[in-house]
Amino acid sequence: MGDRIAAFDWSGSLGPIEAWPQSLKTIVAFVVHSPVPIVMLWGEDGIMLYNDGYSVFAGDRHPVLLGSKVREGWGEVADFNDNVMKVGLAGGTLAYRDFVLTLNRTGEFEDVYLDLDYSPIYDDDGVPAGVLAIVIEISDRVRAERQLLADGDRLRFLDALSRATEASRDADEILTVTTRMTGEHLGVSICAYADMDADERGFTVRGGWSAPGVRNAVGHHRLTDFGQLAVSTLGEGRPQIINDSRAELPPADAATYLALNIEATVCMPLVKEGRLIALMAIHRDKPHHWTEAEIALIHEVAERSWAHVERVGAEAELRETAERLHFLNETLEARVAERAAQLQQSEATVRTVFETSFMAQGLLTPEGQVLYANTTALSAIGATLNDVAGRDYWDTPWFATTPGMADRVRETVASVAAGESIQFTMPLHLPTGERVYEFSMRPAFDPNGRIVALVPEASEVTARVRAEDALRQAQKMEAVGQLTGGLAHDFNNLLAAISGNLELLEKRIDQGRVAGLQRYIDNAQGGARRAAALTQRLLAFSRRQTLDPKPTDVNRLILGMEDLTRRSIGPLNELEIVGAAGLWTTRIDAPQLENALLNLCINARDAMAPNGGRITIETANKWLDDRASMERDMAPGQYISICVSDTGTGMDAETIARAFDPFFTTKPLGEGTGLGLSMVYGFARQSGGQVRIYSEVGRGTTMCIYLPRHHGTAEEEALAHSGETDHGDGERVLVIDDEPAIRALVVEVLEDAGYIAIEAPDGPSGLQILSTDQRIDLLITDVGLPGGMNGRQVADAARVYRPNLRVLFITGFAENAAVGNGLLAPGMEVITKPFAMKAISTKIRDLMDR
Ligand code: ADP
Ligand code: MG
Repeated sequence: MGDRIAAFDWSGSLGPIEAWPQSLKTIVAFVVHSPVPIVMLWGEDGIMLYNDGYSVFAGDRHPVLLGSKVREGWGEVADFNDNVMKVGLAGGTLAYRDFVLTLNRTGEFEDVYLDLDYSPIYDDDGVPAGVLAIVIEISDRVRAERQLLADGDRLRFLDALSRATEASRDADEILTVTTRMTGEHLGVSICAYADMDADERGFTVRGGWSAPGVRNAVGHHRLTDFGQLAVSTLGEGRPQIINDSRAELPPADAATYLALNIEATVCMPLVKEGRLIALMAIHRDKPHHWTEAEIALIHEVAERSWAHVERVGAEAELRETAERLHFLNETLEARVAERAAQLQQSEATVRTVFETSFMAQGLLTPEGQVLYANTTALSAIGATLNDVAGRDYWDTPWFATTPGMADRVRETVASVAAGESIQFTMPLHLPTGERVYEFSMRPAFDPNGRIVALVPEASEVTARVRAEDALRQAQKMEAVGQLTGGLAHDFNNLLAAISGNLELLEKRIDQGRVAGLQRYIDNAQGGARRAAALTQRLLAFSRRQTLDPKPTDVNRLILGMEDLTRRSIGPLNELEIVGAAGLWTTRIDAPQLENALLNLCINARDAMAPNGGRITIETANKWLDDRASMERDMAPGQYISICVSDTGTGMDAETIARAFDPFFTTKPLGEGTGLGLSMVYGFARQSGGQVRIYSEVGRGTTMCIYLPRHHGTAEEEALAHSGETDHGDGERVLVIDDEPAIRALVVEVLEDAGYIAIEAPDGPSGLQILSTDQRIDLLITDVGLPGGMNGRQVADAARVYRPNLRVLFITGFAENAAVGNGLLAPGMEVITKPFAMKAISTKIRDLMDR
């Protein structure tokens, strides 16, 4: 400060330092070197000169304060300093202790506590010319003392409060005393407590204290009436503090407060596990600036009283539980005593129940060792308990003589020991004979849920099963009888036609009437053709027909037969075709599928006669999951569906159940054969698919064929077949057939088409040719052959050293199974006897072009 005073331009106030009176210079030197904060106020204006200590006290007012007039420098206390100057310049002194001035030293006004001493300074002539002020700030000390006092006050109050409530065991009483004491202590108008509703939207003021003459707020209130601020603040567990409802709240919210005379409030929330459950509210009927001390006190009171209330509640619960336990204990002891004579009695009863049961019963350890078996179980194997006790259950005479049963029982024991209950029908070869049991095993648990034993039980159902088998057998015979009857009937008719015409033919020839004989020949042949068609359909049903599956675009197939379909259903019926876009390819015998669809359409037509209706053919891709496929009795996976719907009579449950049976028809004699659906069914099943009926009497029927998806497109395969040559190119074909006529026929076809044919009459001689290294491009073989090898065996043997050999089998219906019912390896094809020349030459070309 010395340097600052020396450098200051004093020309406008005290004049240059050199011209200062000696007394001023001396005093300034004294002041500057003093460690005590001192300020000098010189002359009438009180020009300010001060030291380092004072500059600290002056805060942000320094350094502007230096050289200023004191009444202007400290404008906020100008009156005070005016008095100081007057007294000092008159030669008087002033002293203040614990004195408060409101000063602005930091940009904010604050109460500053001071010890102040003022004394006059005399000039060289002995006349008072200024005032010397010693300024000691004691704000920190004063605040600390006040805090101490307040703390003491608070602690005394809390102490008094806890002494007044500690003995209480009643929540309402605790809260009543607490609110009264707190309200009186703080001098407020209301101190209340409230329980929140379960939905946290409203609360009920249960009780509390109100100052004399103030209406209390007991009753139910909606939290939202107290404003959004209250909802959000309290919901977050923070206290709501309002110093002046009118000034701080939106008018609508303020109205609620003012209606309850709440002009200032502190509301303490109690939050437990994230939920607002109670409130303690302190109100004043005048605006009030809540001090931190007051808020802290309210907070502490609320926390303490709630903790107390909770403890009291928990204690009460504990007492109650203890009493209940005590009671239970006593009754239990009494009952146990009563039960002990009874228990012996019931054990004997249980044993009797076991031993007289018709069921075979036992008890195993959780590991599967036999603990016990009853009389019925033991007599089945003619053993005593001693023979089986302690042995592994699966390793006992019950199961030892039935192949595979020991393993199955061991697995069952493991599953049951893991907590499962298991039940199955168990056929056993027992020393006492062939028996069938309905067998079950379940775990027995102790009260803690641990498995303590396994309980096997078995009741004999041998007689029932035998009866059921007999019934099934009888039903089968009945069905076979019906089928055979139907067949015999149809064949009789056909045979009658054939033999009748042959007889007539014979008669006419005997009579020498040879004109018009062709008619009898045509009629007989017609009968034979119908008989062949009938066997074809039966084979289809028995899934033994020869199929020639090819990747097929079913949408295209349906469009290709649209004309035929329309002609077959007649003009009375509408036909709609809905082909799914992106329909998957399926590998199927296309002519058979056409046949099947035509059958469905004709059934639909019949069901809508005589008025006609609408037939819809619809295709779709189907992804059958485990459940959907189980429902339809198919393997899970990807399928296409082709559904034919009609608006006809529909079928009742009985018709649906029998519709697929061969010869089942509801149509008049001569109209229905009952073979249409049986053929469709056999075909779909043989192709790896399924047929399903959805029908409602009076509304119509939907018949759906499901066929497995084929990966690859129909086009690819068609492309591979294009570029056909009309004639063979010297390729060599081996023909094996024991029938010289058929062999000659095939050789003729081959040579016509430009191939070289080699012949063999039986399997071994054919195989001999195949085992040489001469060129063979194709093997054509009959399936039924003499000489110990059939055609299939020859082909399989040849493929061992000619893996790519192409093969065409010629079969009669009976040998179909030998060539996999038409499902063959690539490069193998089948043609069925009798065949047309055209058919076999197409097949041969087909195979050669692959
Ligand atoms: P058929 O047509 O010769 O009677 P099918 O095997 O084709 O033999 O049909 C058997 C029976 O199933 C029919 O007689 C008829 O009772 C019933 N049926 C088949 N399709 C339908 C359908 N679309 N609407 C109503 N009933 C049908
Ligand atoms: Mg039919």
